Amino acid sequence: MIQVQRPSIGDEELAEVKKVFDTGWLGMGKWVFDFENRIKEILGAGNVVAVNTGTTALHLALDSIGLKEGDEVIVPSLTFVATIQAIVACGAAPVFCDIDGDTLNMDAGDVEKRITARTKVIMPVHYGGLPCNMNEILRIGKEKNLTIVEDAAHAFGSSYNGRKIGAFGDITCFSFDPIKNITCGEGGAITTNDYELAQVMRKKRILGIDKDTWSRFGQKRDWFYSVNMLGFRYHMSNINAAIGLMQLEKLGRFLNRKRGIVERYDKAFRGLSGIGILRKDYENTAFFSYILKIESKRDEFIDFLKSKGIDSGVHYIPNHLQPFFEKYATELPVTETVWKEIVTLPLYPDMSDDDVDLVISSVLEFCKQ
Ligand SMILES: *Cc1c(COP(=O)(O)O)cnc(C)c1O
Repeated sequence: MIQVQRPSIGDEELAEVKKVFDTGWLGMGKWVFDFENRIKEILGAGNVVAVNTGTTALHLALDSIGLKEGDEVIVPSLTFVATIQAIVACGAAPVFCDIDGDTLNMDAGDVEKRITARTKVIMPVHYGGLPCNMNEILRIGKEKNLTIVEDAAHAFGSSYNGRKIGAFGDITCFSFDPIKNITCGEGGAITTNDYELAQVMRKKRILGIDKDTWSRFGQKRDWFYSVNMLGFRYHMSNINAAIGLMQLEKLGRFLNRKRGIVERYDKAFRGLSGIGILRKDYENTAFFSYILKIESKRDEFIDFLKSKGIDSGVHYIPNHLQPFFEKYATELPVTETVWKEIVTLPLYPDMSDDDVDLVISSVLEFCKQ
């Protein structure tokens, strides 16, 4: 079976993890801070705070800006459950907005219509790695005094207006789970140009404790600490950071390989009747996933691919259709139409040319039926 997504990991990651083992310091320490510094360099980000998942990055970001009960966050419904759970975990309400059917990114015009006196945050999700219309979204944020918290779980390595996602904007959250553009095994990071806010996040990620583990135990043998705020156990470990450090070295190769596959898919599928492809920006996108839109018989298409030994997925079931989030349901005509058409095809760095050929020929065969 050809999987939809899978990590590309090897001896380099194992060797680096071995070094962590040899020090006996598995928790947060040198590797985590090296990982943060390397991300800072690669993205040109102001401050980087590494955490243990993308979900905790989102929750920590929202908690750190004081999001609370009674507040509203404007967010697309077509996103991973984590985006919405992070909002609800703060006691706030997600206000779902519609998307652009050609990109699956939030529709900035629709966002503007959903702003109320309770709105505190806009959460763009850079779907598949393609940056949202950040010029518009940041303008709206500035005008209405709202914080923009980007869910950039798909977009590590993508660029916008000549800068990397995470280098500009208010707060950007990344995920390094097993299938993301790079992996730490599990991991996440927050970037922000607000130093004071980053300092709050650094405390909150480790139970509100006012010194990080390294300076507490590792270097100064300074046993004193104080707790002045709510905090969580969200910090990254050296083991995960060691994996991530080696993955960062491979990022360019991963993204080039995936871009090449995306270009082949697009060339093969563009113009096929009954099939739609998303609008692309090859130059600036760190492609996370590949989506086809099948105008009818989407579910049969998925079964057909399975019969050829090809796995596929649906990303995502809109969150307003989930029982737990039903009470936030609202009219989302594009989301409701598009989610019934989308299929995620296999895309990962170690995918062979033969596998790509099989996916292409199988899609063409389905279309001829
Ligand atoms: C993966 C993902 C997350 C959460 O990241 P984890 O590291 O899996 O917790 C959040 N939002 C989106 C859009 C994602 O794809």
